Amino acid sequence: MNQMNRRGFINLSSLGITSFSIPNFIAKESTESIKPLVASTWDAGINANAAAWKVLVAGGTALDAVEQGVMVTEDEIGCCVGLAANPDRDGHVTLDASIMDHQYNCGSVAFLERIKHPISVARRVMEKTPHVMLVGEGAQQFAIAEGFPLESGALSPDAQKAYDNWLKTSTYRPIINVERVSQPHQNDAAFAAPKRFANGDWNHDTIGMVALDKFGNLSGSCTTSGAGFKMRGRLGDSPIIGAGLYVDNEVGAVVATGQGEDVIRVAGASAVVEWMRQGKSPKEACRLVVEKINKIKKEKAATIQVCFVAINKKGEHGAFALHNGFNYAVQTQEGSKLLESSFISIV
Ligand code: ASP
Repeated sequence: MNQMNRRGFINLSSLGITSFSIPNFIAKESTESIKPLVASTWDAGINANAAAWKVLVAGGTALDAVEQGVMVTEDEIGCCVGLAANPDRDGHVTLDASIMDHQYNCGSVAFLERIKHPISVARRVMEKTPHVMLVGEGAQQFAIAEGFPLESGALSPDAQKAYDNWLKTSTYRPIINVERVSQPHQNDAAFAAPKRFANGDWNHDTIGMVALDKFGNLSGSCTTSGAGFKMRGRLGDSPIIGAGLYVDNEVGAVVATGQGEDVIRVAGASAVVEWMRQGKSPKEACRLVVEKINKIKKEKAATIQVCFVAINKKGEHGAFALHNGFNYAVQTQEGSKLLESSFISIV
């Protein structure tokens, strides 16, 4: 990183100026490779990045970094990712996760119950089976055979409270992941919003992480409880390679968060990578895919949130969201920062 770039980064952080205020500032100014680098979705990404960073600065691989990074979030009590998360509408927590390395190796698990670290099971699927994806009971059996302990199926106290509350109405209503929850919401049987805000609701359910290691290799991971109070058996984008996560070591790495159904229908993460292949910056590439979602789902775009975080081979990073409220965490040699994402519209 040259003098000017370094100054740019420091100025942005110290002034609390966001990537929204100065679009692409960091990306445009960086002409030298910035590595290592780790970026992840939401503020939970700060702790997760710190764990990933330890791996990266010790000379470890991006693959190890993205696994160990998101494990921190899977472990966090009171977080929306992992076994303490909100259950589906039948009262079971079901987890989805995916991981991808720099050689197109990938693994994922979905509809997995009672296993604490779905991301590590996803990695084992990648490394120890001829498959890419295992789901449900089969994924759980594989995890147990691999030595992962079967945890209790009991809900965490907060999740139990939220579920009891939800049962009073059993209403499906998407609540986009921003602070203002007083907006009117349309019923949507395909998507149940979880979200514990100040009143106990969460505002998102996923951590996605992308990293570039000192060898210049990229990897990514994504782990989630999906959408709280979802229909039993529902999968989102997070375990689907090309939708919630995609890595092409020649180009970049991308993760998604937000309403998975709308990420899946545009092969979101893969589409962002393809825009970067055509020369777009990470932020610009994310914007183009978010705009496509906005265009094709105009009638419901106001009630959903979709967000992408991308990094490229040069160590440039960027993000874009349908609405305000999305942030992403970045860690480089310059330190750890939480950046506000740019977005299309305010709700
Ligand atoms: N993308 C996740 C899903 O649809 C949810 C989220 O990111 O909050 O399962």
